Amino acid sequence: MQIYNTLTRKKEEFIPHEEGKVKMYTCGPTVYHYAHIGNIRNYIGHDILEKTLRYLGYDVTRAMNITDVGHLTSDSDSGEDKMEVARKRENKSAMEIADFYTKAFFEDFDKVNCKRPEIVSPATQNIEMYIKMIEKLIKDDYAYVSGGNVYFDISKLKDYYVLTNHKEDKMVVGVRAGVEEDDAKRNQADFALWFTTSKFEGHELLWDSPWGKGYPGWHIECSGISIKYLGEYLDIHGGGVDNIFPHHTNEIAQSESYLGHKWCNYWFHNEHLLDETGKMSKSHGDILTVSTLEKKGYDPIAFRFLCLNSHYRKQLVFSYDALEQAQQTLNKLKNRINNIEKTGEIQKDKYDLYNDKFIKEISNDLNVANTITILYDLLKDNEVNGNTKLKLINDFDKVWSLDLINNLEEDNELKDYILSKIEERNKAKSEKNYALADEIRKELLDKGIELMDTREGTKYKIN
Ligand SMILES: [Zn+2]
Repeated sequence: MQIYNTLTRKKEEFIPHEEGKVKMYTCGPTVYHYAHIGNIRNYIGHDILEKTLRYLGYDVTRAMNITDVGHLTSDSDSGEDKMEVARKRENKSAMEIADFYTKAFFEDFDKVNCKRPEIVSPATQNIEMYIKMIEKLIKDDYAYVSGGNVYFDISKLKDYYVLTNHKEDKMVVGVRAGVEEDDAKRNQADFALWFTTSKFEGHELLWDSPWGKGYPGWHIECSGISIKYLGEYLDIHGGGVDNIFPHHTNEIAQSESYLGHKWCNYWFHNEHLLDETGKMSKSHGDILTVSTLEKKGYDPIAFRFLCLNSHYRKQLVFSYDALEQAQQTLNKLKNRINNIEKTGEIQKDKYDLYNDKFIKEISNDLNVANTITILYDLLKDNEVNGNTKLKLINDFDKVWSLDLINNLEEDNELKDYILSKIEERNKAKSEKNYALADEIRKELLDKGIELMDTREGTKYKIN
């Protein structure tokens, strides 16, 4: 498989450390607020990557953190801990905030058919790992204590800016709003591994450490969780493009200094989803979530389909028009697929032909949009019989996860359920219990099932 590697700034053949096995880490959410649809696009990108690796036969183990402490509002060492901001905003404890938004995150994550990683670990559950790492970094002279905090000294590295263009980043730091000079740092780009300073007084989550009561910095969390659960050699690390600097740059610095060798070979970054005003953000206005789209009547899978039609390394502009279009196209596609007659034996030559095309595209830096074109070619190919088409689509959908083929068993179950409800409603009507009859109609309507009373009896439509 060819994959674009941010570390080398080119497309490369993917070769894991251990043949056939992939250790994959992706940065998880900071659970201080809802995840907007731009965040979810990022997770869809990681999901496609993981499922592609599995499709190609790799045995993947993936870990993801849940940031519930230490992520400051600037992504650097200035501003306030985002969890503290939320705690004050909502007048709840930090753990209540974390529980609430973790649950909300996974609801939306599940709705767009993202597979949950094997390992999901909240940052607050791994404090001893960060302390162990920081102690070693201090001992080996990569880190120092100053003004009560522990900082990583970037001047100890030959090339701190491995992921980015040095000059550009200097500029970014210089002009970024809210980045304050910190006199305790030896170099302005040094970053905090552990906070104890009084600036963060009143912080609810504090742990004892060799440097005083405090809490970890955001960057050390991902290094710590990745090394603890996936070991010293990581094959692929994912995130959004906004994580490249400083977050991933800092992860590399501290992980490799701690381990004493190269840590991760491939860095995978998703581009932003933009709204019509520019970058999607949580700092102004309402947060547009997958659940919001669903409440407006859109299928979350239509949002996934919209994302799949654009390459992960290209910015995508979200609009309701585009979503509407995606929804309609998806519905038509599903109708076509579910009207395919189940005829014929599997044609191995045809199966291989289309499957090879599919693999060629997904192996080319996840060219998912082109695989959708292959689907259209397949649908109109008269030389491929129904059963072969359905098998191919079923297999491709292991990567897409668009629920393209209705599951027959589930269908029967649903049909039985609807028919029993119709019967119950008819009984209520014959007993003149119209309140109950209405309640049953509403119950079905809430599930997207519409009842129509006709001369031939009650019929239903699934929306
Ligand atoms: Zn991270």
